Amino acid sequence: MSYVDEVLARVKTKNAAEPEFLQAVEEVLESIRPVVEANEELYKKEAILERITEPDRQFKFRVAWVDDNGQAQVNTGYRVQFNNAIGPYKGGLRLHPSVYLGIIKFLGFEQVFKNSLTGLPIGGGKGGSDFDPKGKSDREVMAFCQSFMTELYKYIGADVDVPAGDIGTGAREIGYLYGQYKRITRLYEGVLTGKGLTYGGSLARTEATGYGLLYMVEELLKSHGQDIAGKTCVVSGAGNVAIYAIQKAHQLGAKCVTCSDSTGWIYDPEGIDVDLLKEVKEVKRARLTEYAAARPSAEYHEGRGVWSVKCDIALPCATQNELLIDDAKALVANGCIAVCEGANMPTTLDATQYLQQNGVYFVPGKAANAGGVATSALEMSQNSERLSWTFEEVDAKLNQIMVNIYHNIDDAAKRYGKEGDYVAGANIAGFEKVVDAMLAQGVC
Ligand code: NDP
Repeated sequence: MSYVDEVLARVKTKNAAEPEFLQAVEEVLESIRPVVEANEELYKKEAILERITEPDRQFKFRVAWVDDNGQAQVNTGYRVQFNNAIGPYKGGLRLHPSVYLGIIKFLGFEQVFKNSLTGLPIGGGKGGSDFDPKGKSDREVMAFCQSFMTELYKYIGADVDVPAGDIGTGAREIGYLYGQYKRITRLYEGVLTGKGLTYGGSLARTEATGYGLLYMVEELLKSHGQDIAGKTCVVSGAGNVAIYAIQKAHQLGAKCVTCSDSTGWIYDPEGIDVDLLKEVKEVKRARLTEYAAARPSAEYHEGRGVWSVKCDIALPCATQNELLIDDAKALVANGCIAVCEGANMPTTLDATQYLQQNGVYFVPGKAANAGGVATSALEMSQNSERLSWTFEEVDAKLNQIMVNIYHNIDDAAKRYGKEGDYVAGANIAGFEKVVDAMLAQGVC
């Protein structure tokens, strides 16, 4: 049995109840086979694959808080510190009822390679809770965040572990979390990113993941002799990533005709109205039915369905495993030329393979959505030097980082005879840097 197969079997036995984590590990280990085979003796002796698939440590804790009726509530909090070979742990906090250890581990594992691809000194981690901010009052969200941070603060710090936003954790939640950290520790430091602009946040961080995704699409198409201007895009999600992806796509001359949330989706042949979408989702925190009600050109459909709409480019920006094999078949049949993942692991393994086998350019989330964490690292730099950079400065750095990531993953794929396989390219390029650092630092 090869070393990769040995470790895959071991990971499956040890984490049998965590399918998302297994899916992420399988995707990475399968695609780095050529690198491992070229260094098998050394990696095996140093247990590189066993170490890289086992988090450095993981915390699980009770989060008790009181709701508006005076009733005590209990949620579970998590922080997984996966690997800090190349820098302090860095990764968001997800607040969603589906959160359990397997989701946080999959996201933390992905984050290790993504952070490596940014070229910046950040390790990988992730955290969150099964708390659902939807339908809660601001006071309830604050009570939850204060209780969550009262435990989490023990494990994080500006040079230790720097959490950020993710699904369900936006500017409001980051503000409450930061306030509590400061209150307990008396430290005014860059311990969280995604902060508000009045207390250490970076310009362009809000936009960064969506904008970065489109900079990646632009470079991908350019290197294949195509132009993004004039292309039709379908987008899923209606949160932070989706909104700013749509905004940047429109600025670059493309047209996004769909978006979705957890109950339904919009088809708007005139192009999604970003200002209206922001009003509905960021201000009112309402359903997409309100978007349709205010926009005569839009159709609202219950359930899922964005991938059935004819497009040139598909941008999944909602959640994991939202683009399935039948969706991949519909995209190919409709002439889609590129799928770039704004969300983490939105495409299932079989759907990914189908898209690749049918000539669709496919860029995985760990490369395509790395602009968010890269800009978080830029926020950390600004906090360290107690300075703030202009929007244009941060945006230009973000653009350059995304262009570099594209060429880095393209080169890595070519080096191993897998030209055009950006999944392999991203995993290989991300892995190589982390392994180099792990080998240099000895067995730990
Ligand atoms: P938000 O919470 O802002 O938005 C998530 C969107 O996806 C919402 O429209 C939500 O619908 C929808 N959604 C969430 N869960 C489901 C589900 N189970 N089924 C269908 N729709 C769902 O999150 P973000 O935009 O920040 O994150 C989206 C994705 O991007 C995630 O995979 C995240 O990990 C990834 N990501 C985010 C980064 C960031 O900087 N924010 C950075 C890199 C990756 P509803 O409105 O109904 O809640």
